[in-house]
Amino acid sequence: MITAMNQASVITRFAPSPTGFLHLGHAFSALFAESRARAAGGRFLLRLEDIDTTRCRPEWAEAILTDLRWLGLNWDGPVRRQSEHLDDYRPALDRLDQRGLLYPCFCTRAEIAAEIARSGHAPHGPDGALYPGTCRSLGPQERQDRLAGGQPYALRLDMRAAITQAGPLSWRDLDAGLQTARPDIFGDVVLARKDTPTSYHLAVVWDDAVQGITLVTRGNDLFEASHVHRLLQALLALPVPDYHHHCLRTDAEGRRYAKRDKALTIASLRQSGLLPAQIRELAGFIPFAR
Ligand code: GLU
Repeated sequence: MITAMNQASVITRFAPSPTGFLHLGHAFSALFAESRARAAGGRFLLRLEDIDTTRCRPEWAEAILTDLRWLGLNWDGPVRRQSEHLDDYRPALDRLDQRGLLYPCFCTRAEIAAEIARSGHAPHGPDGALYPGTCRSLGPQERQDRLAGGQPYALRLDMRAAITQAGPLSWRDLDAGLQTARPDIFGDVVLARKDTPTSYHLAVVWDDAVQGITLVTRGNDLFEASHVHRLLQALLALPVPDYHHHCLRTDAEGRRYAKRDKALTIASLRQSGLLPAQIRELAGFIPFAR
C-alpha cells in the first residue's frame, strides 16, 4: 500500500446522498474517511450529495447528520449541500462548452433503449449499456430547432473528443496503485441532467476541488467512476487528489449492505440498543494507523 505523500495536508470527505438511511456500509465508509484524515492530522469534511430532487429528502439528510454525530464522527467546518450550489456548476459547463466538448441530448430513456435494441449491438460500461450517441450526430439546424422548441435536454460530454483533447492521463489509488485513466468505458456521460443543471460526475469533481479534498476515499463500487473524474479534472484544470477505494462491507451472507435492508440501518440498530462501539465493530472498522 502506498502512503499519502504529504500527510499533514490530508483532507478527506464523506459524501453520502440522502436517498435513505445510512447503513453499516456507510458507517464504515465515513469512519474510514475520518480516520484517514485524523491519522495524518488533517481535516475531515462532510458533503451531502442531494442534487437528485426526486430521490433525496430533507428528513434523510437530517437523519444522516444525527447518525454520524451519534457514531462519534466530527467533521470540520460546515456541511456542504450540493442543492445549495446548483449555480456553481455553470462555469464548469461553460468551460467545457467553449472547448466544444458538450452537446445537448434530447433522448428519453425509452428512446435510448429503443435505439440500443435497434442497433442490435450495445457496448456496456460500468453503468450499463453505453449511450448510442444519437444526439451527437444531430445536424446544427435540427439541434437549433429542438432547442428553440423548448424540448428538454441533458448535456453530454463528447467522450472521444474530450479524450483527444486531454491526452493520456493517470491517477493514483493508495491501495490499487497507479491507474491509467480509461474514461472511454463510460461513453458520452451526462454532465447536466434534464432536471438538474449538473450530474454526479460533474458535481463530485467540482466540489472535491472547491473543498480542497486531497484524498478521495469511497467504496470500490465507484472505482471506475474515478476514470471519468480524472478526465474532468484535466479538462477543467482542477487539482488531482489521491484516491483510496475500499472494499464494500457485506452482511453475514456476503451480500452488500443496501438502503433497502431496513434492519441494518444505523438508526434501527441504535433503536435496538446497540452502542456506537458495537456499530464500529459490526461494520468491521479498524482505525487507520500510519
Ligand atoms: N454520493 C455518492 C454515494 O452516496 C458518493 C460519492 C463519492 O464518494 O464520490 O454513493
